[in-house]
Amino acid sequence: MPDAAGHLPFYYGSISRADAEEFLKLAGMMDGLFLLRQCLRSLGGYVLSVVFNLQFHHYSVERQLSGTYVIQGGKPHCGPAELCEYYSKDADGLCCVLRRPCNRPSGVECQPGIFDNIRDNMLREYVKQTWKLEGDALEQAIISQAPQVEKLIASTAHEKMAWYHGNTSRDEAERKLYSGAQPDGKFLIRERKESGTFALSIIYGKTVYHYKIEHDKSGKNSIPEGTKFDTLWQLVEYLKLKSDGVITTLKEPCPNGSTSAGICSVRPTLPTYRQASSNLDGYTPEPSLGGETPRILPMDTSVYDSPYSDPEEVKERKVFLKRELLMIDEVELGSGNFGCVKKGVYKMKRRQIDVAIKILKMESENQKSVKDEMMKEAEIMHQLDNPYIVRMIGVCQAECLMLVMEMASSGPLNKFLSAKKDEIPVNNIVELMHQVSLGMKYLEEHNFVHRDLAARNVLLVNQHYAKISDFGLSKALAADDSYYKARTGGKWPLKWYAPECIQYRKFSSRSDVWSYGITMWEAFTYGQKPYKKLKGPEVLNFIERNERLACPTDCPKEMYDLMLACWTFKMENRPNFENVESRMRVYYYSIADKTDDASAASAKETTST
Ligand code: ADP
Ligand code: MG
Repeated sequence: MPDAAGHLPFYYGSISRADAEEFLKLAGMMDGLFLLRQCLRSLGGYVLSVVFNLQFHHYSVERQLSGTYVIQGGKPHCGPAELCEYYSKDADGLCCVLRRPCNRPSGVECQPGIFDNIRDNMLREYVKQTWKLEGDALEQAIISQAPQVEKLIASTAHEKMAWYHGNTSRDEAERKLYSGAQPDGKFLIRERKESGTFALSIIYGKTVYHYKIEHDKSGKNSIPEGTKFDTLWQLVEYLKLKSDGVITTLKEPCPNGSTSAGICSVRPTLPTYRQASSNLDGYTPEPSLGGETPRILPMDTSVYDSPYSDPEEVKERKVFLKRELLMIDEVELGSGNFGCVKKGVYKMKRRQIDVAIKILKMESENQKSVKDEMMKEAEIMHQLDNPYIVRMIGVCQAECLMLVMEMASSGPLNKFLSAKKDEIPVNNIVELMHQVSLGMKYLEEHNFVHRDLAARNVLLVNQHYAKISDFGLSKALAADDSYYKARTGGKWPLKWYAPECIQYRKFSSRSDVWSYGITMWEAFTYGQKPYKKLKGPEVLNFIERNERLACPTDCPKEMYDLMLACWTFKMENRPNFENVESRMRVYYYSIADKTDDASAASAKETTST
């Protein structure tokens, strides 16, 4: 999971205080020598270890709810790197300024913390159970929604743990602990009746002890006088390692009846909207001030998993759909050369789904070739199945030829962003573009080139869920081909094309990466048109002069740097989608919670005045 310090050479991950001191000794003990390590107590916190006068000083760096980092009594900083940078100029209360980073010696890896592993497993289990996902759909959900799901888990995860007994009185807890074997350290956590706070009950020497768990104003949990934790489950994990004032360390959980080992196997209690399986696509909840109501995640919508993931539906699956199962609305969603796209409903065996229907114009002169093109598009789409790609349901040949697709009701990304300029924060754009990179990585892995990636062809299911669409120009590459060579030029989106496409009609995943860069630029400019002053054929000249689109206003540097990388002239030196997705992911994780909280905080400010 995201570790804001993961990239720092002087960050050691989860090492003990003694180990930190050992590394500092090895590096020479000069004044101002420092390193950073993970804090076991607070979610996302660190410890800064500094040498001064041949002595060690350890400062705990807390991550605050706003997503900023502080050393107690000091100023907040937006990240651990920025914090260290600050203290390298001004001691501001520390023993001395940070002079020399004690970098990890070669061969010494950053140590994953106990919580990193637990968190990853919990995340996986939570997503699996909550949305009943498997295989690729599960992996993609974890990758794309980790920051959001982590927030959900942090506050509710204890409810799913074997040791959590909910509303249980002190007497009941004793009855439970005394029944059966009574090994030292057998424990449970319960909710205390009136107060809504929690308590730990643990057995030691055949006697049950009870500890109240305090919940302070900032939301932290602790055994009185003990270490404070962001979440109950962290407290439990920590007390398994260190007794921290409790009579003994926690050992085996006292089973609560409904659970198997470790993580509960029953469906967790979910906020009501998650249980209502009505069609949530297109619905965007109001942003809540305290960030309390979790938002609709892609997995909550009906278009996340393939409609054919249901084995009952697969039995009936055919490319050609029966006309009588398709209802076409008059509402037009969009149009193009081929005809128009209409809204509709398709009746599957077990449920009805909203669909978008691309309808071929009847009266076109070259009916045959347009028809062939549409069938080619259908053939490509039929082979694709990814949450971030618009899926085809099938083709229907009736009054005209129709391509039936999943519905993405919030429409094209460029239009959406230009209409909602003031409402959509930059981190929302990063999130959506990360999803596009996931869909493109899938295409790259499966040897498809899109050839028309642009913001107009990224459709939104809702404000937080994007899908790639329009496979009208796409090609499947033969297994050992790395590019497709177009025989002739055509009506091409030149402003989105890499130099080799225009010069040699060579199309590959690397040329799609170039288009991805342009799509990013469109997104971060909230739907502006690229190279406004140039005509399509002039763009190549502009690129050859080594000029590029300028950085959009307020676009984060990391994102513009990635665009520039996508616009590397030589395709061999350009990143592929595997690289692009990983860079998007790192940046998205690093800002995902930060900006959310910041905007929530500023919203609060304005309402209270
Ligand atoms: P073209 O090849 O003409 O660009 P597209 O496939 O991009 O055709 O579709 C044209 C328009 O129709 C889109 O811009 C969008 O507004 C609408 N549209 C297409 N597919 C869908 C869909 N699956 N869900 C919702 N709207 C769609
Ligand atoms: Mg299009």
